[in-house]
Amino acid sequence: MLYTDEEERNYPKIDIKDLKNSMGVCPHCKEQDLEYGSIQLEGENAYFPYKCNNCGLEGEEWYSMEFIGHNVYDKEGNLIEVE
Ligand SMILES: [Zn+2]
Repeated sequence: MLYTDEEERNYPKIDIKDLKNSMGVCPHCKEQDLEYGSIQLEGENAYFPYKCNNCGLEGEEWYSMEFIGHNVYDKEGNLIEVE
């Protein structure tokens, strides 16, 4: 990632031992003010890149994808949930 000088000065100093690992919460400042980019798929997992609107931290929030089931179309084009 490329930063302007000012952004680099303002980027938070993180303490790896003091980072919180919770969904939707900034690991650094612990505010729920993350701005997410679009989902990125990687194999069975996916992540949202984000930037914290409060402290400026940037990171990725990861999720695992779990198989839920099939939906199929019949001849008339109706979508049917397979049980
Ligand atoms: Zn933050």
